[in-house]
Amino acid sequence: MAGGSPNGLSRLADHHRCPWSWYGKYKLELQLKGSQSPEAALGSCGHYCLEQFFLALRDGHPTPKPHELEGPLKQIATGHETQVAESLKWYQAWLAHWSVAPWAGRPVGIEAVFEATLGEIFPEMAKKYPHLVHRLKSIACDLIWEDPEGFLWIYDHKSKDGQERDYSTKGLRRRTEHINPYLVTPQNHRTQFYFYPHVLRLFTQQVVAGVRIHRYLRSEPYDFSVENIRMPMISANHSIEHIFALEDALVRTEERLDQGIAPVHNHFGCWFGDAGDAEPTTKKRSCQYLNLCCAPDAANREYALNTQYNRPQPRLPVLWGD
Ligand code: SF4
Repeated sequence: MAGGSPNGLSRLADHHRCPWSWYGKYKLELQLKGSQSPEAALGSCGHYCLEQFFLALRDGHPTPKPHELEGPLKQIATGHETQVAESLKWYQAWLAHWSVAPWAGRPVGIEAVFEATLGEIFPEMAKKYPHLVHRLKSIACDLIWEDPEGFLWIYDHKSKDGQERDYSTKGLRRRTEHINPYLVTPQNHRTQFYFYPHVLRLFTQQVVAGVRIHRYLRSEPYDFSVENIRMPMISANHSIEHIFALEDALVRTEERLDQGIAPVHNHFGCWFGDAGDAEPTTKKRSCQYLNLCCAPDAANREYALNTQYNRPQPRLPVLWGD
């Protein structure tokens, strides 16, 4: 699903993985200079093409031709000509696929964002966590589709093969659950697939039937399959507990930040550790703060900050080992 919504689950998951990388990303807003990877460029191009396609469909306009998208894609993925060309070829194939196998129904929301407080979303659970009642949460759906029966489906465009692969934390769990039971929590995709329909139900008068994964593999052979996500209802309670526990941890980190205490880094949940046994994707890649995290001393971190990052503030606050 579209990542990065300011109050969404991805922020909670980022904090859970590593509080320091969450801090670098959301509080210090540290960006590596020229950091768009080829995978990220492909991801942005694919999402843009699908967004334009479904917007045109929703508004009753002719769907855009590949040459019409070329200019915007070159801007979105500056310096990634190969990825732009690949995306246009893929989009051509998507148009051909759609012309013979269109989905039944109609798009009703594209990149749609909904916001509500935890108290509104989960009133019963919020009674146990009064300090979290007013915490705002948001969901950002790639696509909301109404089927011919009038049921709503949340579509998640996925650029990788394999079921729910981008959400997998199996490697992390396998390596750490014997030493860190805190990590044995519901998998993020379960939390998300329960949470999103739940929030959408708050905002619609229609039945939200569930979540569907729409594959859009961007290299041949293309895959445009759609699969329903089945989530056992027993996961629902765990998912709610999980969301509150993650939010509670985030609040505590924010309180410590207010006291001038920077979050610690967490090698148990380190993205860098996962990079070795996974292909790079837009979601799972080595941590962009690795060269800060692993720098031997404060002087080296300062050097890395000055040379490698778009640095929005003159000095980092006191960090580990300073
Ligand atoms: S390299 Fe690992 S431990 Fe260090 S900031 Fe990144 S995710 Fe956290």
